[in-house]
Amino acid sequence: MAAWDIVVIGGGTAGLSAAAAAAGRNLSCVVIDRMGGGGELMNLATLHDLDEPLAGPDLAARLLEGAMTAGAELEIGEVVGLTPLGEGWRVTTDNGQYDARAVILAIGLGPGALGLADEDSYEARGLSHCAACDGPLYRGEPVVVAGADRWAVQEARELAAIASEVTLVTQGGAAPASDVFAVISGRIVTLEGTPGLDAVTVQPDEGGAPKRVTTQAVFVQTRRRPAAGFAPKGLVRGQDGRLVTDDAQQSSLPGVYATGDARAGAERTLGFAMEDGRRAVAGAHARLIPLGKSAG
Ligand SMILES: Cc1cc2nc3c(=O)[nH]c(=O)nc-3n(C[C@H](O)[C@H](O)[C@H](O)COP(=O)(O)OP(=O)(O)OC[C@H]3O[C@@H](n4cnc5c(N)ncnc54)[C@H](O)[C@@H]3O)c2cc1C
Repeated sequence: MAAWDIVVIGGGTAGLSAAAAAAGRNLSCVVIDRMGGGGELMNLATLHDLDEPLAGPDLAARLLEGAMTAGAELEIGEVVGLTPLGEGWRVTTDNGQYDARAVILAIGLGPGALGLADEDSYEARGLSHCAACDGPLYRGEPVVVAGADRWAVQEARELAAIASEVTLVTQGGAAPASDVFAVISGRIVTLEGTPGLDAVTVQPDEGGAPKRVTTQAVFVQTRRRPAAGFAPKGLVRGQDGRLVTDDAQQSSLPGVYATGDARAGAERTLGFAMEDGRRAVAGAHARLIPLGKSAG
């Protein structure tokens, strides 16, 4: 018999909300997170769209306390394997194993990418994934943001208060209007500089000559996908790489549910992630009832 009713992989907003809901339904639940919980929140100084002004780490602490008080447990570890085990699953981390009747994937999105062959060599040499973490390193310097969704624009706004100049390159998205940063509708096609980044070349969408933009850093918010390489074959992804689920949030793997940013179609906001985490538990619980867990 499985040791845990539910193992939640990922302790960000969706995972901690799921854990609190699971424990509240009297289901045994452990959350496994590589960093100790909070996820994206730990990178966010200012949160938008909440009922009260809160910094990301403060909301993370609140969600963690809620899950632990409800009776869920937290384990720190990197999940490296997910294998079928009878009617459930075995979750393997870099320091242990957890058997589960149901698994909830709350793994968020991996770091952004530009899709360039040599971009990995610029990691920690100018390529960044977090304005709040790395922005201060580029105080008074020109920087680029790659991406045009709401959160890329937010990153550009925050960087505008630190950097000498911010250029947002849309990478295929719709160009936002701004009076605090420049916008180029186009795609970054080359990175230049040794040892650090000095410039990028942008191919404008309207055609014509490529534009060279001097920059010390590129903050990448495009091509973000859930990093579920630990899962077995058969985990179906949507066009944007996120995990496809049914109405009960069950993925293509029976007994494996997905929630939050990692789930195809999920709105990428904190309020949605909290609600989505709770809905994943409702879906998982319905599956567990025939296995002997009554509805809470
Ligand atoms: C720059 C930016 C600003 C934003 N600002 C706002 C805002 O102001 N208001 C708002 O409503 N939304 C905002 N959002 C969106 C919001 O942050 C996300 O929708 C939300 O945090 C998603 O939560 P999540 O739990 O799905 O994923 P995450 O918070 O990313 O959590 C996933 C967790 O899973 C863990 N994990 C992944 N893989 C593994 C593994 N193999 N083993 C162990 N652990 C693993 C990660 O370490 C992480 O802790 C912003 C997003 C960005 C990028």
